[in-house]
Amino acid sequence: MAGVLDDAEISRVLCFTAHPDDVDFAAAGTVAHWTEAGIEVVYCVVTDGDAGGFDEEFPRAEMPAVRRAEQVAAAKCVGVQDVRFLGYPDGRVEATLELRRDLARVIRQVRPDRVLCPSPERSYARIGIGRPDHRAVGSAALDAVYPDARNPFAFPELRERESLAAWVVREVWIAGGPDPNHYVDVTATFPRKIAALRAHESQTGHLEDLPERLQGRLALMGRQAGLPEGRLAEGFRVLDTA
Ligand SMILES: [Zn+2]
Repeated sequence: MAGVLDDAEISRVLCFTAHPDDVDFAAAGTVAHWTEAGIEVVYCVVTDGDAGGFDEEFPRAEMPAVRRAEQVAAAKCVGVQDVRFLGYPDGRVEATLELRRDLARVIRQVRPDRVLCPSPERSYARIGIGRPDHRAVGSAALDAVYPDARNPFAFPELRERESLAAWVVREVWIAGGPDPNHYVDVTATFPRKIAALRAHESQTGHLEDLPERLQGRLALMGRQAGLPEGRLAEGFRVLDTA
């Protein structure tokens, strides 16, 4: 098992995701535990998910506003009030210097003890979770944690023009990667995770069997975690970045 920081040592967590709903599929049960423990959690969503959805009749121009509102509503279901959007185009995110600087800026603004982000790695077992936007955000987020946010000489404009001092993130939790090394028992918060996912109506409205499918997936992770039969878990790769 990874040497994971005690939640009692954590004041703030910053969650980077590529699209609205990513954090809810990957980690909403864990986020609910964090907020219940009094930890402040902030979401930073890189795109508006404007290429998402299943209804071809739905006017695309309205999708960004709809998806932002859905993510804000989903966040409330698990105790998160602060949701920030960077407005990058959905489906075309690359791990550029500009994205690294934008993520480093948010790290310096929020000053989190722990960052949660998608995996920069492709999963051959589940191709759907390693989409290009996810990998790009994961890669840029890790670079933003180490070294950009902590190096006062990286992106000097953040310090000189925006008075944003360097900040050291102590721990990173990678969601959706190929090799989790830490699991959180989310059996108790599973209903809140489902409520958060249901808030993404444009994405999950047609998935009648969503709770059953998710329960099966999280139960499998519970078995991988060595939890008693029937317990549900979310899995992460935890990195010490202190
Ligand atoms: Zn996504």
